[in-house]
Amino acid sequence: MMWYIVSIIFGALIGSFLNVCIFRLPKEESVVWPGSHCPHCKTPIKFYDNIPLISYILLKGRCRHCHSPISFQYPLIEGISALGSLILFTKFGPSLSYLFYFLFVAALIVITVIDLYHQIIPDAISLPGMGVGLLASLLIPQITLFNSLIGILLGGGSLFLVATVYQRLFKREGMGGGDVKLLAMIGAFLGWKAVILTILLSSLIGSITGIIIMVLKGKDFKYAIPFGPFLSLGAVIALFYQDEIIFWYLQYKG
Ligand SMILES: [Zn+2]
Repeated sequence: MMWYIVSIIFGALIGSFLNVCIFRLPKEESVVWPGSHCPHCKTPIKFYDNIPLISYILLKGRCRHCHSPISFQYPLIEGISALGSLILFTKFGPSLSYLFYFLFVAALIVITVIDLYHQIIPDAISLPGMGVGLLASLLIPQITLFNSLIGILLGGGSLFLVATVYQRLFKREGMGGGDVKLLAMIGAFLGWKAVILTILLSSLIGSITGIIIMVLKGKDFKYAIPFGPFLSLGAVIALFYQDEIIFWYLQYKG
């Protein structure tokens, strides 16, 4: 029981750091220095006002000094990160697998939010992410080094192919290079089968979302929706359910 609480606290603390990454990486600022400060009055935030989730509630969502509202994004990301940590801990227990997959999901959270705001996926996450995924394949039982390598090649290669064909056909960039590197990172962590599953799931969910947005807002297909959040969502589904989905598919086929 105590370990579950530890995993929630650990997840919330990491979530607090993810917020820093989300704000600073697009500006190419350091994520370790200087410490956190209020974006309105620039007052440095004291450690006791920087406790994930709890400080937001105690301060009623406002800066202690200038009383400007603090973005709800902070507790939201901390909450999602804490929940993700708990779910992964429940699945993998106290193990290296838990740590590596939590790192993977944390990277996906940062990528999703940055892509939603700025339509970019920072290389500063996806490129080291590939390396960490490869390293994980050497240390955890869920994936082999070979599967991880094929995952990188298939992830990077297939999306690169789709992006190139799309660009030739429609004379404009559909998917960015960032998406290609993200899928390669997903391949490094989850292997080649999950890459295929992620492409299928993200295309499906992305298309449905695109149609809903078109119907609701009357915008046409040129209204670009960032693809990174859908790739991330597809990857998380693949992380938890790839065996079940592939088993179901093979049964259905046979
Ligand atoms: Zn302030």
